[in-house]
Amino acid sequence: MKELIIKVLGAGPSGALLAIALANINTEVYLFDILDMEKLLSRDRSYAITHSTRRLLEKLGIWSELNNKAIPFKELSIIDSVINKNIILSTKDLEENNYKSKAVGWTIDHKILMEVLFEKLSKNNKINLQLNCLQIKDNRDYDYYFAADGISSKSRNKWNIGTYSYRYRQKCITFKALLRVNHSNRAYEVFRQDGPMAILPMGHDLYQVIISTTSSICENLITLPTSLFLDKVSTMLPSGLEIDSLYNNPEVFPLSLSVSKKLIVANKFLVGESAHSLHPVGGQGLNLSIRDINALTLLLNDRKNRNYNGLISKRSKSFFILNRYIDILSTSFLTHTLILIFSNSFTVLRFIRYFTFSLLRKAPYLRRLLLSLFTDGFSFLFAKRLDC
Ligand SMILES: Cc1cc2nc3c(=O)[nH]c(=O)nc-3n(C[C@H](O)[C@H](O)[C@H](O)COP(=O)(O)OP(=O)(O)OC[C@H]3O[C@@H](n4cnc5c(N)ncnc54)[C@H](O)[C@@H]3O)c2cc1C
Repeated sequence: MKELIIKVLGAGPSGALLAIALANINTEVYLFDILDMEKLLSRDRSYAITHSTRRLLEKLGIWSELNNKAIPFKELSIIDSVINKNIILSTKDLEENNYKSKAVGWTIDHKILMEVLFEKLSKNNKINLQLNCLQIKDNRDYDYYFAADGISSKSRNKWNIGTYSYRYRQKCITFKALLRVNHSNRAYEVFRQDGPMAILPMGHDLYQVIISTTSSICENLITLPTSLFLDKVSTMLPSGLEIDSLYNNPEVFPLSLSVSKKLIVANKFLVGESAHSLHPVGGQGLNLSIRDINALTLLLNDRKNRNYNGLISKRSKSFFILNRYIDILSTSFLTHTLILIFSNSFTVLRFIRYFTFSLLRKAPYLRRLLLSLFTDGFSFLFAKRLDC
């Protein structure tokens, strides 16, 4: 099969992983980023990793290293603080082939993830990594171009690809803190009237907290002195959790739902946040990007998808686009619906929520379905065994 030469723009988590995945299937990859290594590593964020991500990382030989560094959580507590109901999803609610991993999901710090990825990138002689290049001038002819240059992708604009976007009235404030909890190894998704809050274990008593709330509350919280900030946050935490101290400086992010109108134009592809960005509820963003990468490697690696000239056939591209839009749109729909249903206190919706929690408590099958959606996206409905 013809060896492809590929340019990847953006060495964030999506671009870096894409480059490793492409090099693994014998393509020559040129990976560029405008930031230097220090800035690429310095983002103060943690990701909740699901089983779809774990499978791709296993396939790329990265999981054995990350598994020691990622923090597993064996339970996910979903709390509706308005109707005062909760449900705990555990490893028992996982599909059989995910159950073996003995974790509902994992939390990993951005810096740790990127350090492992950059070590792999630097050791791979199929990957040419060029950082800190503000002006990328190269006249090489590439077979394919992949833009993984983030939510405000310049490549997307350059390639004239529009987006369907919706800006939430909520913003999110995120920080790490030391918490006192009754149960270790548990992650929390708390639905509050003004927005959801995720609490992810980072090892020992350290937790990443992501609070989505109205812009004004966010802007107010960020200006408070630490003692008042801790007081305010303690009133938002579910019972059984107490905040001891702040571990880093809180940061505020605007929130939007955005899906690009096209994923491919000619030989140019959008990957990761340049193609879709979601509300952080459920921690789906990076996991969705990693499913893009998996689909792309399957597309390029299968001889049947290539024409006589070694390039991807039109039919295979159409199939790829359909497959990705089903996943992207269904995951966007799921996260957006969660916000619509839970971020308000309409009586009818309260009733639906009450009924849903009662049903989930009684029906193990529904708990399994919910956890499969969280961990594999809607694609689990189409393939019983997701062989990433
Ligand atoms: C508060 C918050 C919490 C989140 N929590 C989770 C979670 O728990 N789990 C999860 O899965 N997701 C989560 N997400 C989403 C996750 O952060 C994103 O999905 C992920 O960062 C996307 O990675 P990316 O590589 O696609 O984009 P980015 O991380 O934005 O990387 C883009 C890269 O492209 C580079 N670049 C930009 N322009 C150019 C150019 N012209 N040329 C070359 N390079 C360029 C940038 O320097 C950057 O390095 C969260 C998001 C937020 C805001």
